[in-house]
Amino acid sequence: MKTIGMLGGMSWESTASYYQLLNTGIKTVLGGLHSAKIAMVSVDFEEIEKMQHNGNWPAAAAHLIAAAQSVEAAGADFLLICTNTMHKVAPEIEASISIPLLHIADTTGEKLVSDNYKKVGLLGTAFTMEQEFYKGRLSQKYSIDVVTPNSADRQIVHDIIYKELCLGTILDDSRAQYLRIINGLKSQGAEAIILGCTEIPLLVQQTHTCVPLYDTTAIHAASAIAFATSSNT
Ligand code: GLU
Repeated sequence: MKTIGMLGGMSWESTASYYQLLNTGIKTVLGGLHSAKIAMVSVDFEEIEKMQHNGNWPAAAAHLIAAAQSVEAAGADFLLICTNTMHKVAPEIEASISIPLLHIADTTGEKLVSDNYKKVGLLGTAFTMEQEFYKGRLSQKYSIDVVTPNSADRQIVHDIIYKELCLGTILDDSRAQYLRIINGLKSQGAEAIILGCTEIPLLVQQTHTCVPLYDTTAIHAASAIAFATSSNT
């Protein structure tokens, strides 16, 4: 079994989900008392969030490069960046380590392609919904057409992530807002919805809607389990 590297803490609420998913997944595959081999660095999200909102992406990249190098030095065989948003600096991180990076947009794109979806809605932070590092990768590598909510609804989605979900606050009113926005994306032609922020699955699950949901935390973790168990190393 390979050792899974985790760059976590963004926020720790979703890193806890990853930890649980990785261990239950390894137990399902290998049985018995098996659990995931994990090397993790968990950062202080307050520091990262300030860099994001100040647009100081070079500082965020430098911070995460140092953390990723520590994960590699701790024995990880490959790396998960446990957030969609910080994949904005994935190219810089990938260039600074010698272990493979399992990119969250690739794991999601591959699953959408295998399920034959061509047009999907994307929910996430404003950075993820508005910038090209995520949407562009899905359209260029996987020919997936990505639709996002209007500006007012993007703000609602973004604020609920930072002011509630990353603080562990789960509110019915916020779920209702997300479900309204998901229905809006469906009427724009979205065949499925990417929950493109690793905390959103804490608020919205498949039981809440008939629109197919793509939980990026679960998809990323499942790909990591498959990769970690893919050989005897
Ligand atoms: N975990 C979130 C994501 O998947 C948001 C927190 C962050 O900005 O990293 O995008």
